[in-house]
Amino acid sequence: MKKLLCAAVIAAASAAPSFAAPAANTGPDGVPTIANASPDGARGVGAPAPTRHGGPAGLNSALTPEEEARAFLSAYSASYQGVYAVSQDVSWAASTDVTPEHDGGRIAANKALAAVTGSRYVIETARRLLARKAELSPLTARQLEKVWLDAAENPATIPDVVAKRVEAESRQSSVMDSFQFCLEKKPEGACAKPVTANEMDDILVSSRDLSLRLKTWNASKEIGPALKPGLARLQGLRNAAAREFGYSSYYDLQAADLGMNTKELAELLDGFINDIQPLYEQLHCWTKYELAKRYNQPVPKLIPAHWIGNRWAQEWPGIVDGVDLNPLFKDRKPEWIIRQAEDFWVSMGFAKLPEAFWKKSDLYPVPSDGKRNKNTHASAWHIDLDQDVRSLMSVEPDAQWWGTAHHELGHIFYFQAYARPQVPVLLRRGGNRAWHEGIAELGALAAMQAPYLEKRGVLPEGRKIDQNRWLLNEALEQTIAFMPWAAGTVSAWERDLYDGDLPPEKWNARWWELAAKYQGIAPPPAAGGERPAPSGTASPGSPRGEEYCDGCTKTHVNDNPAYYYNYALATVMKYQLHTHICRNILKVDPHACTYYGSRAVGDFLRGLMSAGATRDWRELWKEKLGEDLSTKPMMDYFGPLLDYLKKENKGRSCGWR
Ligand SMILES: [Zn+2]
Repeated sequence: MKKLLCAAVIAAASAAPSFAAPAANTGPDGVPTIANASPDGARGVGAPAPTRHGGPAGLNSALTPEEEARAFLSAYSASYQGVYAVSQDVSWAASTDVTPEHDGGRIAANKALAAVTGSRYVIETARRLLARKAELSPLTARQLEKVWLDAAENPATIPDVVAKRVEAESRQSSVMDSFQFCLEKKPEGACAKPVTANEMDDILVSSRDLSLRLKTWNASKEIGPALKPGLARLQGLRNAAAREFGYSSYYDLQAADLGMNTKELAELLDGFINDIQPLYEQLHCWTKYELAKRYNQPVPKLIPAHWIGNRWAQEWPGIVDGVDLNPLFKDRKPEWIIRQAEDFWVSMGFAKLPEAFWKKSDLYPVPSDGKRNKNTHASAWHIDLDQDVRSLMSVEPDAQWWGTAHHELGHIFYFQAYARPQVPVLLRRGGNRAWHEGIAELGALAAMQAPYLEKRGVLPEGRKIDQNRWLLNEALEQTIAFMPWAAGTVSAWERDLYDGDLPPEKWNARWWELAAKYQGIAPPPAAGGERPAPSGTASPGSPRGEEYCDGCTKTHVNDNPAYYYNYALATVMKYQLHTHICRNILKVDPHACTYYGSRAVGDFLRGLMSAGATRDWRELWKEKLGEDLSTKPMMDYFGPLLDYLKKENKGRSCGWR
């Protein structure tokens, strides 16, 4: 199943018309009223924060920091929630009916939101109050920290940088949206055979013609040089905003959401990679022998990138035969799939989806009558951070949508779990940015368990499943092949870009160095030839020079930077949650485990979900699972696969270093 990046979840992590200082007087109930004027004489955020009461914001100096913070948060939250809801509603319109007008509306609404979250008044107040964190309640401090992190994305204290960044990001998006991929060119350079991203993906998953694969892979990388100058500008602009706030880089700012700095995050990710290494090496070895046979080529040390069924080798689909579940769904209606996914969550004691969800969501493919275009990327939306929840899907009766429906509704039930009065609006988000995907992915993992498929009448009872093939496919398409990419190549490259200020003339060499190190993947031969890249290392001597920018071709490197490692965390989380649920609550084997109908599983999940971001994620995790975040449950889950692959690979020359 494809990894789906959910627009609303990302938006929830960033944050609401210009939010200015309260007037010097307070309202009748002692809560400051909001006036329109900005405070005069505001300082840059780099200046030391005053620690005396009141300060330039002019709040009542008789208030304690906690009282002042509560008054500030109450006014900020109301403003934030209102503008956030408008921006989400406008974005929803733009995603369900793609027109230039709707796009323009989205940009304007996002600017309005940025004006609230990044205002000079907000920055100064948060800074001053956080300097007295010891005098604040934990819940108040946590809210102020979110205000601070959101402000760092668009600080009004450096309006020049913010304006240039907004412009550079929107230019980058239009390059991505309008780029014409081309499979064949005419001699004078015009395109003879245009190709879409979906068509390229289909070729890479299914074609066995190596020269067509190479042509397709090369075509997919042509967007890199078009995106490189923009990303080089954004590298500086994003860093400038983060450094204004005292972070070492933009990457460091993003790591702060996890309560970590760059170095701590790097150690966590490297730890994941070390843990999975024994299994990944076996998987890599099995795959290169399998593909060398398929393409009738000598077995290489590093796998050439165009052999893999994904443009970045981040997932390895299409290699295992006999695991196609699509025929089991072909007579089902799309409505049936979504109702089953709702029933999955409701059976565990979650409240049914509100009527408004069914009215306002956009769940099925649009007729191809040309009346409207919608975004085909599945997503879940928490429009007003309260009861307005929606999903955008294009459900069709197949196995991928079965999993995706369970995934997207996981986000929706998560929204509903924390949209309650006890959770302040600013903390109505996941325990950290990875948690939302972790919970949603857990739904997708549970949806594919054989006993659950049997119970829902999808899998004929008694039909045998070849567990090794299933596990192998799960490891290739979703999990084990994915980890060195998500925790390794792309995360390390972005870390070097932002935290290491890597100059653009070294970007491509570094990209392939990292792909070789973490994934054992090399660039394809430069032209024509079908033999894999010559030696164990892709660089130096890489045929992919700096005229390319292969890292730039990954969409979210441009529009959602320093985010990908959250999927690695989510992957580790889901197996640990799944194992805990199966072994400790349901007392069954995690390979054949259904949550359906278990209130106890529902209670456990609600304990994690209903907290939103009110708690430190590591503390809450340990409290509910009795252990720290760990890859061990994931490795145990794939234990039978490791044994199987070791047998398959016996006598083969494995490893690539
Ligand atoms: Zn998702």
